[in-house]
Amino acid sequence: MATRGATPAPLLALAQCLDQLPGIGPKAAARMARKLVLQPALAADLEAALATVQQQVALCPVCRCYSVNSVCRQCDGVVEAGTDLWVLAQPEQLADIDTAAQGFVLHGLLSPVEGIGPEQLGLGSLYQRLCDPQQQPSRLIICLDESVEGRTTGFYVQTLAQRAGVPFLQWSETDSDSTATD
Ligand SMILES: [Zn+2]
Repeated sequence: MATRGATPAPLLALAQCLDQLPGIGPKAAARMARKLVLQPALAADLEAALATVQQQVALCPVCRCYSVNSVCRQCDGVVEAGTDLWVLAQPEQLADIDTAAQGFVLHGLLSPVEGIGPEQLGLGSLYQRLCDPQQQPSRLIICLDESVEGRTTGFYVQTLAQRAGVPFLQWSETDSDSTATD
């Protein structure tokens, strides 16, 4: 009944998992899955690394950067009102902002088609921060790209700032050299 040379179901399932990662695609995912069967040591290393990341790495609840502690080193004890707060799509962009300013990373943009709503981007916690007098920034700088999703997300964030009474400005992508949108 089984076709000769057909891919076994577990291998197919692994390839389908890998295919969900950004920038891979079904063909490369299938190649990676087959490679992992041929290289058990690599598969074991990958398994261990995945487990460690799952146990130890999470998003900082303040800035939403990747962090091994609950609150990252940048935010630990220094969340204060009255500074600029930059809203960024990707954590790599934090390197470009003024060291006196703080950042808030969305890890993406609103996309109803892909099922990415305000919850996935942490926009509820951003709004709470904007409304909290202990943490309220002097200004919100919205630095998102010029795509439809970028503009929609920027408009949404702008609405939150308006509701919280925080001044804001939309930072044009052409003002920065960021390429991190994937
Ligand atoms: Zn943080």
